[in-house]
Amino acid sequence: MKYDYLIVGAGLYGAVFACEAKKTGKRVLVIDRRKHIAGNVYTEEMEGINVHKYGAHIFHTNNKEVWQYVNQFAEFNRFTNSPVANYRGELYSLPFNMYTFNKMWGVVTPEEAAEKIEEQRRAAGISEPKNLEEQAISLVGTDIYEKLIKGYTEKQWGRPCRELPAFIIKRLPVRLTFDNNYFNALYQGIPQGGYTKMVSNMLEGIEVRLGMDYLEEKEELDKLADRVVYTGAIDAYFGYKLGVLEYRSVRFETEILDKPNFQGNAAVNYTDAETPWTRIIEHKWFEFGTQPKTVISREYSSEWKAGDEPYYPVNDAKNMKLYEEYKRLSASEEKVIFGGRLGEYRYYDMDAVIASALERCKYELGK
Ligand code: UDP
Repeated sequence: MKYDYLIVGAGLYGAVFACEAKKTGKRVLVIDRRKHIAGNVYTEEMEGINVHKYGAHIFHTNNKEVWQYVNQFAEFNRFTNSPVANYRGELYSLPFNMYTFNKMWGVVTPEEAAEKIEEQRRAAGISEPKNLEEQAISLVGTDIYEKLIKGYTEKQWGRPCRELPAFIIKRLPVRLTFDNNYFNALYQGIPQGGYTKMVSNMLEGIEVRLGMDYLEEKEELDKLADRVVYTGAIDAYFGYKLGVLEYRSVRFETEILDKPNFQGNAAVNYTDAETPWTRIIEHKWFEFGTQPKTVISREYSSEWKAGDEPYYPVNDAKNMKLYEEYKRLSASEEKVIFGGRLGEYRYYDMDAVIASALERCKYELGK
């Protein structure tokens, strides 16, 4: 065997694993189907602006070990995510906080806001939320659900809120303070110079082959290494033999505009049902850009089909049941480690992917 590890996928999971394995003296080969490294955190420069080609990625974590880990590979700026919701031209602050409640209801104090939410929750008669709709109403009431959640969520997931798992909406904080920080995280920022540079630093000194599809050449590639770290979709690995796991895909329409400022913020969410895109990202604001032009991306969500890029696993009961079956199958693939958002079919954030890769390294590499 020429390598100890063949790592399939040069995204965050693969890059962390490769970097740690190399440090312990292992021989590592990283391959990726795409023509570039960094998976979906890939950034590319346009007009001097780092464009998040596969959607906005804002690094945030409560995990000090992960924060210190990524800081070895990049310097992070002080960007704080504060998206704005645009509902038919009305602008609201996100996540749901006193600025949002004041704009929605005219309430001024936290008590008044809490009362309003409680009143709407009681009127809806929800005690134990069983789906995203009920969870949302019980967290923020019906007005906010109708204007800021329902339209956005149904565009994003292509399913009624009543058929979606409650945990998705729990990603968003609800606060009775005037705080527009989207995340409850101790550490937050954007790697200066872009994510591609950060991942490239992780992969320094490691052999990487791009444009190489593992599943197409599996037999040959497997001969190269003792162990395989597979970060692609788990159902694809098994040729979809138990059925197809559902994902959401995203299409981006990116434009260069000949003006310095389009929307005054990195992210504006279009929360009505009619606007076909879910959000517009203005990339320069991730790095406080002063360029004369600006680059924006409209995001359109769609159901994943063969040939598309999978982005979000649809972790509802039906898919989770199928995933568990694939997971059982994967246990008999003794040579292979399945990891990352696609390999584990989990709506992982970047910090959680890194934590999970580091954990796996400790176990696997005995460090
Ligand atoms: N969400 C919403 N309105 C918004 C933003 C988010 O209803 O303006 C809901 C939606 O269901 C979404 C979920 O919150 O899928 C999680 O949002 P997050 O911003 O964490 O999604 P991501 O950035 O991962 O796409």
